[in-house]
Amino acid sequence: MAQARRLAIDIVVPLYNEESIVAEFHRQLTDAIAPLRREHDVRICYVNDGSLDHTGAELLKLATDDPGVTILELSRNFGHQAALTAGLDCARGDVVITMDGDGQHPPELIGEMVTLHLAGYDVVLTQRVAADLPRFKRWTSAAFYRLLGSIGNTRITAASADYRLLARPVLEALRQMREYHRFLRGMVAWAGYRTVVLPYAERARLGGTAKYSLGGMARLGAEATFSFSLVPLKIALVIGVGFLVLAAAEVVYVMSFFFTGRQHLLAPGWSSLMFMLLIVGAALMISVGLVGIYVGYIFQEVKHRPVYLIRTVHGNADDPPARTETTQ
Ligand code: UDP
Ligand code: MG
Repeated sequence: MAQARRLAIDIVVPLYNEESIVAEFHRQLTDAIAPLRREHDVRICYVNDGSLDHTGAELLKLATDDPGVTILELSRNFGHQAALTAGLDCARGDVVITMDGDGQHPPELIGEMVTLHLAGYDVVLTQRVAADLPRFKRWTSAAFYRLLGSIGNTRITAASADYRLLARPVLEALRQMREYHRFLRGMVAWAGYRTVVLPYAERARLGGTAKYSLGGMARLGAEATFSFSLVPLKIALVIGVGFLVLAAAEVVYVMSFFFTGRQHLLAPGWSSLMFMLLIVGAALMISVGLVGIYVGYIFQEVKHRPVYLIRTVHGNADDPPARTETTQ
Protein backbone atom coordinates (compact mmCIF):
# COMPACT_ATOMS: atom_id res chain seq x y z
CA MET A 1 0.00 0.00 0.00
CA ALA A 2 1.27 3.45 -0.88
CA GLN A 3 2.50 5.53 2.01
CA ALA A 4 -0.18 8.11 2.85
CA ARG A 5 0.70 11.78 2.78
CA ARG A 6 1.97 13.23 6.07
CA LEU A 7 -0.45 15.90 7.18
CA ALA A 8 -0.23 18.78 9.61
CA ILE A 9 -3.44 18.53 11.61
CA ASP A 10 -4.77 21.20 13.98
CA ILE A 11 -7.42 20.30 16.50
CA VAL A 12 -9.28 23.33 17.83
CA VAL A 13 -11.18 23.05 21.12
CA PRO A 14 -13.06 26.00 22.66
CA LEU A 15 -13.47 25.92 26.43
CA TYR A 16 -15.50 28.00 28.81
CA ASN A 17 -15.50 27.22 32.52
CA GLU A 18 -14.55 23.55 32.10
CA GLU A 19 -11.92 23.27 34.88
CA SER A 20 -13.35 20.01 36.20
CA ILE A 21 -13.05 18.12 32.94
CA VAL A 22 -10.30 19.66 30.87
CA ALA A 23 -7.56 17.29 32.15
CA GLU A 24 -9.72 14.22 31.53
CA PHE A 25 -10.77 15.51 28.13
CA HIS A 26 -7.14 16.05 27.15
CA ARG A 27 -6.22 12.54 28.29
CA GLN A 28 -9.00 10.98 26.22
CA LEU A 29 -8.14 13.12 23.23
CA THR A 30 -4.42 12.31 23.30
CA ASP A 31 -5.18 8.59 23.76
CA ALA A 32 -7.50 8.67 20.76
CA ILE A 33 -5.05 10.49 18.51
CA ALA A 34 -1.93 8.57 19.57
CA PRO A 35 -2.04 6.28 16.48
CA LEU A 36 -2.61 9.30 14.27
CA ARG A 37 0.42 11.06 15.70
CA ARG A 38 2.67 8.31 14.36
CA GLU A 39 1.71 9.19 10.79
CA HIS A 40 0.84 12.87 10.99
CA ASP A 41 1.81 16.01 12.89
CA VAL A 42 -1.05 16.78 15.22
CA ARG A 43 -1.31 19.97 17.23
CA ILE A 44 -4.05 20.78 19.69
CA CYS A 45 -5.17 24.36 20.10
CA TYR A 46 -7.27 25.07 23.19
CA VAL A 47 -9.17 28.34 23.08
CA ASN A 48 -9.95 29.56 26.57
CA ASP A 49 -13.01 31.69 25.99
CA GLY A 50 -12.63 33.99 29.00
CA SER A 51 -13.27 31.28 31.60
CA LEU A 52 -13.92 32.61 35.08
CA ASP A 53 -12.70 29.44 36.81
CA HIS A 54 -9.33 27.67 36.71
CA THR A 55 -9.59 26.36 33.14
CA GLY A 56 -6.65 28.60 32.16
CA ALA A 57 -4.38 27.18 34.89
CA GLU A 58 -5.37 23.60 33.99
CA LEU A 59 -4.51 24.28 30.36
CA LEU A 60 -1.08 25.67 31.27
CA LYS A 61 -0.32 22.41 33.08
CA LEU A 62 -1.25 20.45 29.94
CA ALA A 63 0.87 22.68 27.73
CA THR A 64 3.99 22.17 29.84
CA ASP A 65 3.66 18.39 29.45
CA ASP A 66 2.79 18.36 25.77
CA PRO A 67 4.68 20.56 23.28
CA GLY A 68 1.92 19.92 20.74
CA VAL A 69 -0.50 22.04 22.75
CA THR A 70 -1.16 25.72 22.04
CA ILE A 71 -3.41 27.84 24.23
CA LEU A 72 -5.28 30.90 23.04
CA GLU A 73 -6.59 33.03 25.86
CA LEU A 74 -9.38 35.34 24.78
CA SER A 75 -9.68 38.60 26.67
CA ARG A 76 -13.22 37.83 27.82
CA ASN A 77 -16.05 35.46 27.02
CA PHE A 78 -16.90 36.00 23.37
CA GLY A 79 -19.07 32.91 22.89
CA HIS A 80 -18.66 29.52 21.29
CA GLN A 81 -18.72 30.61 17.63
CA ALA A 82 -16.22 33.42 18.23
CA ALA A 83 -13.92 31.08 20.16
CA LEU A 84 -14.06 28.57 17.30
CA THR A 85 -13.23 31.38 14.87
CA ALA A 86 -10.19 32.40 16.94
CA GLY A 87 -8.97 28.80 16.78
CA LEU A 88 -9.59 28.54 13.04
CA ASP A 89 -7.65 31.76 12.48
CA CYS A 90 -4.61 30.44 14.27
CA ALA A 91 -4.61 27.03 12.56
CA ARG A 92 -1.70 26.58 10.16
CA GLY A 93 -2.05 22.92 9.21
CA ASP A 94 -3.31 21.15 6.11
CA VAL A 95 -6.53 20.30 7.90
CA VAL A 96 -8.25 21.64 10.96
CA ILE A 97 -10.69 19.76 13.18
CA THR A 98 -12.98 21.60 15.58
CA MET A 99 -14.66 19.87 18.50
CA ASP A 100 -16.25 20.69 21.86
CA GLY A 101 -14.16 20.25 24.97
CA ASP A 102 -16.81 18.58 27.07
CA GLY A 103 -16.43 15.00 25.82
CA GLN A 104 -19.69 15.00 23.88
CA HIS A 105 -17.84 14.65 20.60
CA PRO A 106 -16.14 11.23 20.59
CA PRO A 107 -12.45 11.80 19.71
CA GLU A 108 -12.26 8.27 18.24
CA LEU A 109 -13.90 9.72 15.14
CA ILE A 110 -10.87 11.85 14.31
CA GLY A 111 -8.98 8.96 12.68
CA GLU A 112 -11.95 8.26 10.43
CA MET A 113 -12.27 11.94 9.54
CA VAL A 114 -8.64 12.07 8.47
CA THR A 115 -9.06 8.89 6.41
CA LEU A 116 -12.03 10.47 4.64
CA HIS A 117 -10.01 13.57 3.97
CA LEU A 118 -7.20 11.49 2.49
CA ALA A 119 -9.83 9.83 0.30
CA GLY A 120 -10.55 13.23 -1.24
CA TYR A 121 -13.08 15.05 0.91
CA ASP A 122 -12.49 18.69 1.85
CA VAL A 123 -15.18 18.86 4.51
CA VAL A 124 -16.10 16.06 6.91
CA LEU A 125 -19.22 16.99 8.87
CA THR A 126 -20.64 15.02 11.74
CA GLN A 127 -24.27 14.39 12.43
CA ARG A 128 -25.78 13.40 15.76
CA VAL A 129 -27.84 10.22 15.58
CA ALA A 130 -29.96 8.56 18.25
CA ALA A 131 -28.56 10.81 20.93
CA ASP A 132 -30.17 10.55 24.32
CA LEU A 133 -30.53 14.30 24.36
CA PRO A 134 -33.38 15.77 26.36
CA ARG A 135 -36.50 15.47 24.25
CA PHE A 136 -36.98 19.24 24.33
CA LYS A 137 -33.55 19.91 22.83
CA ARG A 138 -34.08 17.25 20.16
CA TRP A 139 -37.44 18.70 19.16
CA THR A 140 -36.30 22.31 19.12
CA SER A 141 -33.24 21.31 17.09
CA ALA A 142 -35.37 19.39 14.56
CA ALA A 143 -37.89 22.24 14.27
CA PHE A 144 -35.10 24.75 13.88
CA TYR A 145 -33.40 22.93 11.03
CA ARG A 146 -36.75 22.40 9.32
CA LEU A 147 -37.50 26.13 9.53
CA LEU A 148 -34.05 27.06 8.30
CA GLY A 149 -34.37 24.53 5.48
CA SER A 150 -37.58 26.13 4.28
CA ILE A 151 -36.76 29.83 4.61
CA GLY A 152 -32.98 29.78 4.37
CA ASN A 153 -30.99 29.97 1.17
CA THR A 154 -28.24 27.55 2.22
CA ARG A 155 -28.71 23.81 2.75
CA ILE A 156 -27.54 23.06 6.27
CA THR A 157 -27.23 19.46 7.44
CA ALA A 158 -29.74 18.80 10.24
CA ALA A 159 -28.43 17.86 13.68
CA SER A 160 -24.91 18.69 12.59
CA ALA A 161 -22.46 19.67 15.28
CA ASP A 162 -19.50 22.01 15.44
CA TYR A 163 -17.41 18.83 15.21
CA ARG A 164 -15.91 18.75 11.75
CA LEU A 165 -12.82 18.57 9.62
CA LEU A 166 -11.99 21.32 7.17
CA ALA A 167 -9.24 21.14 4.58
CA ARG A 168 -6.98 24.09 3.91
CA PRO A 169 -8.97 25.63 0.98
CA VAL A 170 -12.18 25.62 3.03
CA LEU A 171 -10.37 27.20 5.93
CA GLU A 172 -9.03 29.92 3.64
CA ALA A 173 -12.56 30.51 2.38
CA LEU A 174 -13.91 30.81 5.93
CA ARG A 175 -11.16 33.26 6.76
CA GLN A 176 -12.43 35.55 4.06
CA MET A 177 -15.83 35.68 5.71
CA ARG A 178 -15.37 38.23 8.45
CA GLU A 179 -19.03 38.69 9.31
CA TYR A 180 -19.67 39.52 12.95
CA HIS A 181 -22.78 37.40 13.43
CA ARG A 182 -21.44 33.96 12.79
CA PHE A 183 -23.17 30.63 12.42
CA LEU A 184 -20.26 28.45 11.38
CA ARG A 185 -22.41 25.45 10.44
CA GLY A 186 -24.14 27.63 7.86
CA MET A 187 -20.95 29.27 6.67
CA VAL A 188 -19.29 25.90 6.06
CA ALA A 189 -22.39 24.75 4.16
CA TRP A 190 -22.32 27.97 2.13
CA ALA A 191 -18.68 27.41 1.17
CA GLY A 192 -19.51 24.06 -0.42
CA TYR A 193 -16.55 21.84 -1.44
CA ARG A 194 -16.57 18.06 -1.46
CA THR A 195 -18.44 17.19 1.71
CA VAL A 196 -19.23 13.98 3.52
CA VAL A 197 -21.31 13.48 6.64
CA LEU A 198 -20.19 11.12 9.37
CA PRO A 199 -22.89 9.99 11.83
CA TYR A 200 -21.99 9.68 15.51
CA ALA A 201 -23.69 8.95 18.80
CA GLU A 202 -23.28 11.88 21.12
CA ARG A 203 -21.94 11.08 24.57
CA ALA A 204 -22.83 12.57 27.90
CA ARG A 205 -20.70 15.43 29.15
CA LEU A 206 -17.63 14.34 31.12
CA GLY A 207 -18.80 16.71 33.83
CA GLY A 208 -19.74 20.31 34.35
CA THR A 209 -22.83 21.87 32.84
CA ALA A 210 -23.89 22.85 29.35
CA LYS A 211 -23.04 26.46 28.62
CA TYR A 212 -25.84 26.99 26.15
CA SER A 213 -28.85 28.06 28.15
CA LEU A 214 -32.28 28.22 26.55
CA GLY A 215 -31.61 31.90 25.85
CA GLY A 216 -28.23 31.05 24.33
CA MET A 217 -29.81 28.48 22.02
CA ALA A 218 -32.50 30.98 21.01
CA ARG A 219 -29.80 33.56 20.29
CA LEU A 220 -27.84 31.13 18.12
CA GLY A 221 -31.08 30.21 16.36
CA ALA A 222 -31.88 33.87 15.70
CA GLU A 223 -28.34 34.49 14.49
CA ALA A 224 -28.65 31.57 12.08
CA THR A 225 -32.10 32.59 10.86
CA PHE A 226 -31.30 36.24 10.30
CA SER A 227 -27.92 35.67 8.71
CA PHE A 228 -29.05 32.86 6.42
CA SER A 229 -32.52 34.01 5.47
CA LEU A 230 -33.92 37.26 4.16
CA VAL A 231 -37.49 35.99 4.44
CA PRO A 232 -38.24 37.90 7.69
CA LEU A 233 -37.47 41.14 5.85
CA LYS A 234 -40.08 40.34 3.25
CA ILE A 235 -42.90 39.74 5.73
CA ALA A 236 -43.98 43.41 5.59
CA LEU A 237 -44.22 43.20 1.80
CA VAL A 238 -46.45 40.13 2.03
CA ILE A 239 -48.71 41.84 4.58
CA GLY A 240 -48.85 44.95 2.38
CA VAL A 241 -49.93 42.94 -0.63
CA GLY A 242 -52.51 41.25 1.64
CA PHE A 243 -53.96 44.68 2.49
CA LEU A 244 -54.06 45.56 -1.20
CA VAL A 245 -56.05 42.40 -1.94
CA LEU A 246 -58.44 43.27 0.89
CA ALA A 247 -58.91 46.78 -0.55
CA ALA A 248 -59.75 45.29 -3.95
CA ALA A 249 -62.16 42.83 -2.31
CA GLU A 250 -63.82 45.72 -0.48
CA VAL A 251 -64.33 47.60 -3.76
CA VAL A 252 -65.95 44.53 -5.33
CA TYR A 253 -68.13 44.07 -2.25
CA VAL A 254 -69.32 47.69 -2.28
CA MET A 255 -69.92 47.64 -6.03
CA SER A 256 -72.05 44.54 -5.65
CA PHE A 257 -74.46 46.59 -3.53
CA PHE A 258 -74.76 49.19 -6.30
CA PHE A 259 -75.28 46.62 -9.03
CA THR A 260 -78.04 44.88 -7.11
CA GLY A 261 -79.71 48.17 -6.15
CA ARG A 262 -79.17 47.70 -2.43
CA GLN A 263 -76.92 50.73 -1.89
CA HIS A 264 -79.32 52.06 0.77
CA LEU A 265 -78.11 49.17 2.99
CA LEU A 266 -74.59 50.63 3.11
CA ALA A 267 -73.90 52.87 6.10
CA PRO A 268 -72.92 56.33 4.78
CA GLY A 269 -69.15 56.85 4.80
CA TRP A 270 -68.31 53.22 5.58
CA SER A 271 -67.14 52.28 2.08
CA SER A 272 -64.79 55.21 1.58
CA LEU A 273 -63.43 54.94 5.11
CA MET A 274 -62.69 51.23 4.78
CA PHE A 275 -61.15 51.70 1.38
CA MET A 276 -58.85 54.48 2.61
CA LEU A 277 -57.88 52.42 5.65
CA LEU A 278 -56.92 49.40 3.57
CA ILE A 279 -55.10 51.42 0.92
CA VAL A 280 -53.10 53.36 3.50
CA GLY A 281 -52.26 50.10 5.30
CA ALA A 282 -51.14 48.54 2.04
CA ALA A 283 -49.05 51.58 1.06
CA LEU A 284 -47.31 51.66 4.44
CA MET A 285 -46.55 47.96 4.58
CA ILE A 286 -45.38 47.80 0.98
CA SER A 287 -43.00 50.71 1.50
CA VAL A 288 -41.64 49.11 4.68
CA GLY A 289 -41.23 45.87 2.71
CA LEU A 290 -39.34 47.63 -0.07
CA VAL A 291 -37.03 49.23 2.46
CA GLY A 292 -36.59 45.74 3.89
CA ILE A 293 -35.51 44.38 0.52
CA TYR A 294 -32.86 47.08 0.17
CA VAL A 295 -31.71 46.52 3.75
CA GLY A 296 -31.38 42.84 2.83
CA TYR A 297 -29.19 43.72 -0.14
CA ILE A 298 -27.04 45.98 2.03
CA PHE A 299 -26.81 43.21 4.63
CA GLN A 300 -25.48 40.80 2.06
CA GLU A 301 -23.08 43.36 0.60
CA VAL A 302 -21.53 44.38 3.92
CA LYS A 303 -20.67 40.78 4.65
CA HIS A 304 -18.14 40.98 1.82
CA ARG A 305 -18.42 37.30 1.21
CA PRO A 306 -16.57 35.97 -1.82
CA VAL A 307 -18.79 35.91 -4.89
CA TYR A 308 -17.56 32.39 -5.68
CA LEU A 309 -14.99 29.86 -4.58
CA ILE A 310 -12.97 27.71 -6.96
CA ARG A 311 -12.16 24.14 -5.99
CA THR A 312 -9.83 23.21 -8.84
CA VAL A 313 -8.92 24.27 -12.34
CA HIS A 314 -8.63 21.53 -14.96
CA GLY A 315 -6.85 21.84 -18.25
CA ASN A 316 -4.19 24.19 -19.42
CA ALA A 317 -4.93 27.50 -17.79
CA ASP A 318 -1.86 29.71 -18.27
CA ASP A 319 -2.97 32.17 -15.71
CA PRO A 320 -5.44 30.38 -13.48
CA PRO A 321 -7.54 32.60 -11.26
CA ALA A 322 -6.68 32.60 -7.61
CA ARG A 323 -8.34 29.82 -5.70
CA THR A 324 -10.72 32.28 -4.12
CA GLU A 325 -11.86 35.66 -5.36
CA THR A 326 -13.36 38.42 -3.29
CA THR A 327 -15.82 41.03 -4.37
CA GLN A 328 -13.18 43.68 -3.87
N1 UDP B 1 -18.06 27.21 25.01
C1 UDP B 1 -17.25 28.31 24.77
N2 UDP B 1 -17.75 29.56 25.01
C2 UDP B 1 -19.03 29.77 25.41
C3 UDP B 1 -19.87 28.64 25.60
C4 UDP B 1 -19.36 27.37 25.38
O1 UDP B 1 -16.09 28.17 24.39
O2 UDP B 1 -19.41 30.92 25.60
C5 UDP B 1 -17.51 25.85 24.77
C6 UDP B 1 -17.77 24.87 25.88
O3 UDP B 1 -16.75 24.92 26.87
C7 UDP B 1 -17.77 23.55 25.15
C8 UDP B 1 -18.35 23.92 23.79
O4 UDP B 1 -18.17 25.33 23.65
O5 UDP B 1 -16.47 23.04 24.96
C9 UDP B 1 -19.81 23.56 23.64
O6 UDP B 1 -20.54 24.10 24.70
P1 UDP B 1 -21.69 23.30 25.45
O7 UDP B 1 -21.25 21.91 25.70
O8 UDP B 1 -22.11 24.09 26.61
O9 UDP B 1 -22.83 23.34 24.35
P2 UDP B 1 -23.89 22.18 23.98
O10 UDP B 1 -23.14 20.88 23.94
O11 UDP B 1 -24.91 22.23 25.04
O12 UDP B 1 -24.40 22.59 22.64
MG1 MG C 1 -21.73 20.14 25.01
